[in-house]
This record gives sequence, structure tokens and C-alpha cells, in this order.
Amino acid sequence: MRGHPRAAILGRMTAPVSVTPVLVVHGGSGRISPEHHTAAVAGTHAAAIAGQRVLLDAGRCEDAVVAAVRVLEDDPAFNAGRGACMNRDGEFEHDAAIMRSRDLRSGAVAGIRAIRDPVLVARLVMEQTRHCLLTGEGAEALARAHSVGHFGRDEVWTPKAEAAYREVLEGRGAADNRADTVGAVALDNDGHLCAAGSTGGILFKLPGRVGDTPLCGSGFYAHPVLGACCTTGVGEAILTHLLAYEALRAAAEQPGAAQQIAERLCAEISGRWSNAAVGLILVRPDGEVAIAHASEHMSWALARGATTPESGLGRR
Ligand code: ASP
Repeated sequence: MRGHPRAAILGRMTAPVSVTPVLVVHGGSGRISPEHHTAAVAGTHAAAIAGQRVLLDAGRCEDAVVAAVRVLEDDPAFNAGRGACMNRDGEFEHDAAIMRSRDLRSGAVAGIRAIRDPVLVARLVMEQTRHCLLTGEGAEALARAHSVGHFGRDEVWTPKAEAAYREVLEGRGAADNRADTVGAVALDNDGHLCAAGSTGGILFKLPGRVGDTPLCGSGFYAHPVLGACCTTGVGEAILTHLLAYEALRAAAEQPGAAQQIAERLCAEISGRWSNAAVGLILVRPDGEVAIAHASEHMSWALARGATTPESGLGRR
């Protein structure tokens, strides 16, 4: 696609038929301590398999990304759902989002408290309301009204999150670049695209702080012409640069260069923001992918068609 991004918004809204499905997941951009490397890669690999299974059964991209993100929300190795990090007051406040290309519908929740499966509530916002983003108590009330979500501190608390919180509280560690948020993007058989993400945010954040993850265009975006993108890292750096939309728009202008463009954007934003961790995954409508990060690590996995997913912790 060339020209002003508006051309894309007004462009083709129906997808081509019979495409090789693609799913990419990430397990967060930041520094992962050596003892967690194996779990981080195993977790993203398992999530890719779950999403791939949905796509190979001719499932929709939204079902695939939700299946992948749910695996990661349940995995205590990741900062989402069970395993989420705590805010300054030792409470859990989650953000999550989903968006599909077929009609540009999106749903997100921000500051929803102590819930194991926030991506399901984001999906509820997309499918059952006329809104795009619900916060705190409103999101919790919607979830309860539809009997969606497992709520409670016991559902999300992990020794790992407690230890990380104590380290900062007691001045033994810094609340920086420690991120293991999760996300997924998918292209399904019908050529539709979807992005989803879920996070506990950043460790020791102020109560009420919201990052990029639930913000459309920053933390996620999906569009029939541009593709689907999901970001990770320090939310303040990412949302200031509208990274998800910007990466898709730039990649659309230069087919074949998505990886290079994604790496450049992550590095630029990180550099402008005191070397903040910044990462993203994206898939274009033609199946081209980018998996990029400016940080020590980002666990990821990629499933293309029926082939065994590739996974890793750094550059692909
Ligand atoms: N982007 C998330 C946030 O700032 C955190 C992360 O990706 O690790 O809330």
C-alpha cells in the first residue's frame, strides 16, 4: 500500500480466500533472568501450538489469539492473568485488549482487578457492547454480568510476583524493564487478522496507571490492508509513539521489509526513552511477519500453516 494511511482505512475491507494461516505470540520484552529462560520459551511455544490448533481447524483469528493468550495468562511465568505483577500497593490491576480486521471492532479493559483471564473480558467488550474500552469496576461488572472471568487474589498471585514486589519495596531491585507481558497476532484461513494482548502492567506502577496494552493503535491494531500488530515493553514509551499502528503503516509501504522496519522502530523508541524495553510482533495480510525488540530478551513463537512452531528468546 502506498499513500496516505487514510487510503488503507477506506480500502479493501473483505479478505482474500484460502490463505496459509499464521500465528505469532510474544511473552514480553525486557530482561528475563536466566532461571526463567526455559519457562519463557516453553510457554510461548505452548501458546503457539494452542493458537495454531484453532487455525488448522479452520477457526477464526480471534479464537486463535484468545486461545494463545489464555495459555500465557494461565502460565505463572508471564506477567498476565496468573503471574501478573503488583502495583505500588501490592494489588493486581490488569489491562487486556483484542481487535479484529474484518470490521475493525476492538475491545479492551484497563485496571480490572485480580482476574486470571482478562482477555476474555476484552473480548466481551468487543462482542457484547458498543464500546471499545472499559475500566476498573465497569469492566468487572460487565464480566460478572456475563459470568466471564475468574476473579480473586488467589487466582493471580504467584511467589514470583510476590518476590519481585518485595525486592522493589525493600530497595533491593528497581522497577524497570522487567516485563513478561503477553500477546498474539494471527492471520486465518479466510485472510482475516486479529491482535490480542494481556498484562499486569509494569511492576510497582502507581494505582490506576494504564500502559499501552489496552490502547488501540499503541498496544495493538488490526486492519485488513495493514495487518495485525501487538506491542510490549515500557508502555509510556510505546503509547507516546503509537507503535502498533505506526509499525503496520510503515511495513505496508515497504513489502518485504517488515522485520527491518520493526527493528528500527523499536530501537528508535527505546533510544528516545532511556533505553526502555520495546518490542512488537506483527503479521501482514500476505503472511509476512516481524518479531522485533530493543531489550535483552523477548520470548516469542511463530506457527506458520501446519509446521511445528519456531520459538526463541532473542532475535529470530
Ligand atoms: N506494555 C506493558 C505496559 O506497559 C508492559 C509490558 O509489555 O511488559 O503495561
